[in-house]
Amino acid sequence: MNPIADLYRLQEIDTMWDKIRRRILQLQKTTGGSPELVEMRTRTRATETELQKVRQEQRDADGESGSLAVRIKESESLLMGGQVRNPKELEALQASVESMRRHKGALDDRSVEAMVKADEIGQRFAKQTSSLNSQEAEWQIKQQAVDEELQKRKKEYVYLKNMREELVKSIDGKMLEQYEYLRGRKNGIAVAKLEDGSCTACHMQIPVGLIGSVRRGDELVACAACGRILFAA
Ligand SMILES: [Zn+2]
Repeated sequence: MNPIADLYRLQEIDTMWDKIRRRILQLQKTTGGSPELVEMRTRTRATETELQKVRQEQRDADGESGSLAVRIKESESLLMGGQVRNPKELEALQASVESMRRHKGALDDRSVEAMVKADEIGQRFAKQTSSLNSQEAEWQIKQQAVDEELQKRKKEYVYLKNMREELVKSIDGKMLEQYEYLRGRKNGIAVAKLEDGSCTACHMQIPVGLIGSVRRGDELVACAACGRILFAA
């Protein structure tokens, strides 16, 4: 191999390496699911929270209503029992029972409203859960494929890295520097093939006098138009 051919080979490795790096990043980004799936999970969780809140409201109303029922019963047996004889006390007791009954009525209404609401939210939650589950199952299958490809790409990445390290050892330091410099500024193409007497990167005709040097491949010949290193296969 001549030095320019080595540089060209290095560029092939680097191009592939970049491509694999981008693909790995892309694959890693999809881990966790699509934006739609993430949105779906959030929405379903919000519905569940809403459902729990309404059910708690119903339990609270039922609990309060239950303890009021006990207190109403106690007051009623006091009224019926005849132990309270003072008319003012009787009147007060009667008023308290009526107030408790009104309060209990309101609590029972609230309980029924919460129940109806919980029913509606429960149905919505069931629908969301079922479509989320099927989306999750679909995603699991896709994720498996993503994981498999990711493993494969990571191996390729390491393979290319080792290959590059090995190849770089045989490349002259100055040439390597020039290559890196051009690759950073020339859209990733530092070495351009010479074909039919033209630079394949910019299509400029190369002077005949230079073609011989390019063919020999032992020194660095730059395209006068684009500045890339010319390589003849
Ligand atoms: Zn050129």
